[in-house]
Amino acid sequence: MDTILVANAGSSSVKFQVFGIVGDGSLTRQIRGQVDGVGSRPRLRAVASDGAVLVERTYEGELVDDVAKALATAGAWLRDELKIHPVAIGHRVVHGGPDYCGPIRVNEVVLQRLERYVSLAPLHQPYNLKPIRSILARFPDMPQVACFDTAFHRGHGALADCYAIPEDLYAEGVRRYGFHGLSYEYIASALPRIAPGVASKRVIVAHLGSGASMCALRNGLSVESTMGFTALDGLPMGTRPGQTDPGVVLYLVSEKGMSPADVQNFLYRECGLKGLSGISNDMRELEASADPRAAFAIDYFVYRAGLMAGMLAAALQGVDAVVFTAGVGENSARVRAAIADKLAWLGASLDVNANAAHSQVISRPDSGVALYVLPTDEELMIARHTLSVVSDKTNPQSNARRAP
Ligand code: ADP
Repeated sequence: MDTILVANAGSSSVKFQVFGIVGDGSLTRQIRGQVDGVGSRPRLRAVASDGAVLVERTYEGELVDDVAKALATAGAWLRDELKIHPVAIGHRVVHGGPDYCGPIRVNEVVLQRLERYVSLAPLHQPYNLKPIRSILARFPDMPQVACFDTAFHRGHGALADCYAIPEDLYAEGVRRYGFHGLSYEYIASALPRIAPGVASKRVIVAHLGSGASMCALRNGLSVESTMGFTALDGLPMGTRPGQTDPGVVLYLVSEKGMSPADVQNFLYRECGLKGLSGISNDMRELEASADPRAAFAIDYFVYRAGLMAGMLAAALQGVDAVVFTAGVGENSARVRAAIADKLAWLGASLDVNANAAHSQVISRPDSGVALYVLPTDEELMIARHTLSVVSDKTNPQSNARRAP
């Protein structure tokens, strides 16, 4: 069976999945794995679709000292031991910049353009691109497809795409991009089957994980996001503050003498639930804690989610459904219930038992806003995009469109 390899490379680990291409063009997940501890104590671990462990192996730190070598290690294991030879590799790439509003097959020209966006996402983009460059050098004929977290939002209207700053900065790429687009696109693709009554209406999707954002969908398309130029804006997250007056950054620089690198580290790693609670960035730990600071951090998260939902409701001029997804959204009945409470003014009414049971529909039949819990699947979205790009033999670059 032909297969597609999906790769999601971060700073110290690479997650990967293998999908089989079934005769009718649908995809079945065969393997999930990751190489973590890159540069320190590298470890390859992978499981089959039934959860059976296929490999668990450690390596010397210097043998796997960057994410390109980490993916090469996983690739060699798939090739040499499982005889899996993917027909294409789909990569998660956080930033498609202003230019890409869909997945794109990567060649040298595309890669150089994507490398220019490193400054827009310095903590993610270089690691996303490193394995692509390495594979391009070693296996130039292997089709590689970049799938962007920003792409799904590139159809936003001008009002949602801009900051109130001089236009030359917009022209060079300082825009409200929005992220988690692969997750939202997956949810939008699942809604017509799961919730045909609302799929074409006004839907707010809350992707609540370590990173968290919300997206307003109209007719299955993104019209507004709580995130902007970087993945720092909007909701508070595990270690990021979410919406914060830029004056706070000026204060940190002028009064605390922090360098750009200090500020970056502070905003990405020391704030959010972790900074606020002083306990943990992990929602499970906060829920389990009896410390009032943990309860305050959860209340803050919920309060801000309510505010952001109000903003998106204004963008949509009403709401027909809210979908909860990602780690917190899929698993925390407490957070969902508290956010649903904040949406009561919009007409939302929670079915407490359905919520406690993590049912797919968690609103009461008479609720003015339907409430759903849907697991996201960004990897499947990447596999689908990859298959469609490499199947488009007529014009493999056809979806490299300029944003309006
Ligand atoms: P990411 O993919 O961005 O790392 P996830 O979508 O996996 O994040 O979400 C991670 C978050 O989900 C963590 O804060 C974790 O505590 C939270 N989470 C996972 N399971 C539960 C649960 N059962 N109850 C509450 N929070 C949970």
